Amino acid sequence: MRKKIIAGNWKMNQTLEEGKILTSEVVNMGKDELRDDVQVVLCAPFVHLTTLQAMLTDSSIALGAQNCSNHASGAYTGEISVAMLKSVGTEYVILGHSERREYFGEMDSLLAEKIDITLEHSLTPIFCCGEPLVVREKDEQLAYVQSQIEKSLFHLSAEDFSKIVIAYEPIWAIGTGKTATSDQAQEMHAAIRKQITDQYGEEVANGISILYGGSMKPGNAEELLSCLDVDGGLIGGASLKSRDFVDIAKSF
Ligand code: PEP
Repeated sequence: MRKKIIAGNWKMNQTLEEGKILTSEVVNMGKDELRDDVQVVLCAPFVHLTTLQAMLTDSSIALGAQNCSNHASGAYTGEISVAMLKSVGTEYVILGHSERREYFGEMDSLLAEKIDITLEHSLTPIFCCGEPLVVREKDEQLAYVQSQIEKSLFHLSAEDFSKIVIAYEPIWAIGTGKTATSDQAQEMHAAIRKQITDQYGEEVANGISILYGGSMKPGNAEELLSCLDVDGGLIGGASLKSRDFVDIAKSF
């Protein structure tokens, strides 16, 4: 059985007070409403992680970050290392989000380094991939996404590859209100799983959780999450509303 995961990506939103309120609402609703077989993750801004970790101690909700350095430590002003993340109880790290690729110039090779250091410290990377609209319009999305995966992940051993989570996020659907149809999501997720099967074999491919991200909301989550190869969601905007976020996590 693949792990079902619903991860909230708060991005650069929420002051500490706002984040505490949001977290306590999710924790309280989650106590009665969340299923044991769905791993919920809150990927919060770095400065909130310590506070949130204390709030999540007695819950099954895991803590995630949204980025990390590719370096272990040293003279990298403003950067955050995986050891720092680990030391405050972080379990997951989003890597390669399209906003980091586009606004901060993160390339496939840099992401490969970040994946390595994350795995070395036993954190779980949520590796994001996805095509821009121009690529989708040319119907070249499968090759585009498969190239992102190959360049940043296929240097891994089968054992290490088994530890990662993949999030397919078509860029044209992120924060736009446009969602991939369930057919589009399933087609891409199945293609990714086939690519993993070809590289690492069926056992590895069948164990990898592949999340969908892109304007997932309570109203469309059930249909997307019912796709055979969709194992969860990476949720941006809707993760900032506790009711919506918990409802998405209940939509499997
Ligand atoms: C995201 O940023 O990962 C995301 C999926 O955002 P949204 O849900 O707002 O489209």
